[in-house]
Amino acid sequence: MLTPFSAPFFATPTACPVAPDHPAQPAPPDGLSCSMTLPASARSAGIARQAVRAALHAYALDPLEATAVQAASELMGSAWRMDPYGELYLSLRHRDDALRLIVYDGHPAHAQPRLAALCEARRRATLRVFAALVRDHGGEWGVGPSREPGGGTRTWATLPLRVRTA
Ligand SMILES: [Zn+2]
Repeated sequence: MLTPFSAPFFATPTACPVAPDHPAQPAPPDGLSCSMTLPASARSAGIARQAVRAALHAYALDPLEATAVQAASELMGSAWRMDPYGELYLSLRHRDDALRLIVYDGHPAHAQPRLAALCEARRRATLRVFAALVRDHGGEWGVGPSREPGGGTRTWATLPLRVRTA
């Protein structure tokens, strides 16, 4: 019987690839690269926590989960306090045995030095828990102007997969 769904119809896919039914597990950790834009809102930290947890689990990076989930949450909370009406952008990437978390917010750099110093002190106060968390994990963090076209501020942390022992 001739039907539009006969085998030859599907036999030679060309420009329309289909994912296999059973992808290889687990995914290699270095494949993790994920980002999202969230509204500046008290709820966004919770969404970020869930997303980071799910992404780390999918890439077999569970040992980083507790630190990374809380760090992402603290970063989002800080960014929301500094830019309560804009959009926040979260990026999560694993490379070279370390997880890199970055949050961008729209808070601009200040040209007036005294205002810039006050603003930086205010931001660092919102990052106290985050800073302690990253330090205890043996990671690094920083804050600076965003290099994105819209400006704003970029706050980041690098968390090594293997926790350093003294
Ligand atoms: Zn400011």
